[in-house]
Amino acid sequence: MRVVLLGPPGAGKGTQAAAVKERYGIPHVSTGDMLREHVRGGTDLGRRAREYMDGGKLVPDELIIAMMEDRLSQGDCKDGFLLDGFPRTVPQAEALDQLLHKMGIGIDAVVLLDVSDDVVVERLSGRRVCRSCGAIYHVSFHPSSKGNICEACGGDLYQREDDREEVIRRRLKVYHEQTSPLESYYEAKGLLRRVSGEGATDAVLRVLQGH
Ligand code: AMP
Repeated sequence: MRVVLLGPPGAGKGTQAAAVKERYGIPHVSTGDMLREHVRGGTDLGRRAREYMDGGKLVPDELIIAMMEDRLSQGDCKDGFLLDGFPRTVPQAEALDQLLHKMGIGIDAVVLLDVSDDVVVERLSGRRVCRSCGAIYHVSFHPSSKGNICEACGGDLYQREDDREEVIRRRLKVYHEQTSPLESYYEAKGLLRRVSGEGATDAVLRVLQGH
């Protein structure tokens, strides 16, 4: 099963991906997570990506495409994958098509998680992340019972730089301008399925299972 998850930041792609990963045992490949790992590790890519990420802008296509060529050629992607946060531009989608064509495989489905801008701002501006284990909380919808401390591991909770409201608004603008053209790109290929991102956390899994 080879799936692309599309949708604005805060649509719940990570949460939906977890359900699909558990059911199909395929890797959840999130470019955002990979880039944050590079930033944490202080790699050359991390240093170059950071300023774009903190400002809510897209990291240049050539950096992302090179990173993904490397990732998708790894053994665990051989029988399938779930892409989250990639592609994000038409040139990235074209590069992905070329890469998969070379590998002799194709995408089975592209699922678009639809969420309104107001819901995105409400979700992301309240999001808090554990610095140690990466657990995710929300100040209103899922607060930690220990305040700014992670219930699971005792780590500090923090707000991602790009979850500040003005950066969220910029990320949404970038999404509407650069990523939403992918909806018609994949619609034309007959691959696009639309799902509400304001309903069940396994909505994507259910669509893939033909519900
Ligand atoms: P995410 O966690 O998917 O919202 O990604 C966080 C940030 O990483 C984005 O705001 C971008 O700066 C960068 N990023 C992630 N994926 C991509 C991509 N496919 N193309 C360009 N930038 C990306």
